[in-house]
Amino acid sequence: MTATPVLAGRALVAGYGGRPVLDGIDIELRPGEVLCLIGHNGAGKTTLVKALFGLVPLGAGEVQLDGRPLARPTPAALAAAGVAYVPEGRGIFPGLTVDETLRMAAWAACVPAAERGARLDWVLGILPRLREFGGRRAGTLSGGEQQMVSIGRALLGRPRCLLMDEPSIGLAPKLFQDLLRPIRALQQATGMSVLLVEQNVHEALKISDRVLAMKSGAIIREAAPAELADNARLMELY
Ligand code: ATP
Repeated sequence: MTATPVLAGRALVAGYGGRPVLDGIDIELRPGEVLCLIGHNGAGKTTLVKALFGLVPLGAGEVQLDGRPLARPTPAALAAAGVAYVPEGRGIFPGLTVDETLRMAAWAACVPAAERGARLDWVLGILPRLREFGGRRAGTLSGGEQQMVSIGRALLGRPRCLLMDEPSIGLAPKLFQDLLRPIRALQQATGMSVLLVEQNVHEALKISDRVLAMKSGAIIREAAPAELADNARLMELY
């Protein structure tokens, strides 16, 4: 029997200005897996992740947590249930220092004041390089460093489910692995579930358990990463 998904979308329809992008999508994020969502530009990957996190209103369908439908899938409801979202483009405030960014995130994640220090140390233990630039304004960091801040911020709530939208944008493969390897290690140690949207498919598949390919607002294929190791197979999906 398959375990109840941590997070699921059922028959999701969503779009912009009355134009649907998602065309009745079903998706399940299972406990303790890294699920990689791939697909060409404009396929609807970001829209799907945003719909799951309550950032795009649903035209139809429902978002489920632990098998139960959410009456109102809002970012606040999902965050309170242990889901964290790392947006495409990092979404950090360039004028704040990294320390300020992380302290603000701890507050926003409702970490009790007495626990904030320990929680920050926990995140810095996972992403130790964050210690090197604590006093720097986030806007002065490189793309990869900013991405690390964005992921660190998402981890502060100790999520059981992490949604990441194209964390590799602008990063060399080595930097991508430096960034994602600690997340994979954390996921394996804690059983966290991760939904990873990626264009950098070869690198993403190295740390994924399952792959979904999207095209024109629909899921067109589910595969194990090994099935897509062959370039020709992968190209069929694009
Ligand atoms: P990419 O890999 O390029 O980020 P994607 O697969 O994440 O692409 P989406 O960003 O979900 O795709 O976009 C799906 C479709 O929705 C595209 O046609 C895009 O132009 C459109 N779209 C995305 N955001 C908006 C918006 N805010 N308003 C109107 N249309 C949008």
